[in-house]
Amino acid sequence: MSFSNDGPFPPQQPETRLVTAGRDTEAQKGFVNPPVVHGSTVLYPTADDLHAHRGEYQYGRHGTPTTRALQDVLMGLEGPQCAGVGLAPSGLAAISTALLSVLKAGDHLLVCDNVYRPSRNFCNGMLARYGVETTYFDPLIGAGIEALFKPNTRAVLVEAPGSQSFEMPDIPSIAAVTHARGALVIDDNTWATPLYHRSLEQGVDISIQAATKYIGGHSDIMFGTISANARAWPLLAEGIRLLGVCAGPDDVYLALRGLRTLSVRLAQHYRSGLEMARWLQARPEVARVLHPAIETDPGHAIWKRDFTGACGLFSIVLKPAPQKAVDALLDTVKLFGMGYSWGGFESLVIPFDCSDYRTATKWAPGGPTLRLHIGLESIDDLKADLDRGFAALKAAM
Ligand SMILES: *Cc1c(COP(=O)(O)O)cnc(C)c1O
Repeated sequence: MSFSNDGPFPPQQPETRLVTAGRDTEAQKGFVNPPVVHGSTVLYPTADDLHAHRGEYQYGRHGTPTTRALQDVLMGLEGPQCAGVGLAPSGLAAISTALLSVLKAGDHLLVCDNVYRPSRNFCNGMLARYGVETTYFDPLIGAGIEALFKPNTRAVLVEAPGSQSFEMPDIPSIAAVTHARGALVIDDNTWATPLYHRSLEQGVDISIQAATKYIGGHSDIMFGTISANARAWPLLAEGIRLLGVCAGPDDVYLALRGLRTLSVRLAQHYRSGLEMARWLQARPEVARVLHPAIETDPGHAIWKRDFTGACGLFSIVLKPAPQKAVDALLDTVKLFGMGYSWGGFESLVIPFDCSDYRTATKWAPGGPTLRLHIGLESIDDLKADLDRGFAALKAAM
């Protein structure tokens, strides 16, 4: 499913576009929202139309009025650099589709050492089998990435910040080197969303969202989006068509609905996340908070330069504690559910350990690590919940 916008871009801020884009009141018979079109076959009125593939829609896989509305909103959100948006059934499918669309056998790929682990698994598994070589690099490499380029390096995959360890790659520097070498930058922009990180304006060619997270926003869909600039869109559009990637109509509708309120939800996640990060930084049980919007974070300068906000996801390093004490904390908190994914309305906590899969850098934080997602609950209730968790941790030491 893909849609390319050739028209002039209306001069509106992204927050406004989230509300105005993708709404064709007349076609929707006056209703504010589009219908959820469940459809495969599109009927052609005449043989002539059929032969010419004439008509706004040709086949369900290639788009429906519902996917068109969603793509319009995503185009508006990404900004004028965006030449087209593809939709995928999950965030990981968006990443694998982007990689398969730009790479071929014999190519070399550079991947940031802090990317989402299943992205690594795809590179080490399927891409390796198809003859694509992957080299991992230090997230803090910056323009030093030049030294890792080979004549056949075709793409660089980054994630800023990494969604467990939160190191902040310097995307404009990486993009400058990558473009000078004729390669493409692919950015997993799930953490900040295009609202807080204008990745296509910062030299990224393909910007990916695990829309399962903040775009859906309610922990009820699996979804992915792939936005590309004019340089990358032809490759991506072809890849999507050849692979047959598309998404189910109910999830398309829920992603569209989520986008309408993204700016207010994200602002609240940002505010509560930052307040909780500062509160945790002052706790005696916490050695370090990994959150680029905190002034003392090593990635803060880059975050301040390249981002306009943060979401509710960050990590903490606890002072050394036995596993059973950390488990006592996890078993005590009630508002922080234990589970994967994030970006929904609810708070979450998981322990994590990057040391068994990192290859370009060493992960040695010096204590147990927890990743927190700060949801939309009252921040006071969340602090009280963690207070009880820390009391249980201390009691189990
Ligand atoms: C969750 C996540 C993905 C994968 O999205 P799914 O929809 O779960 O496939 C990719 N990248 C990041 C950073 C994520 O957090």
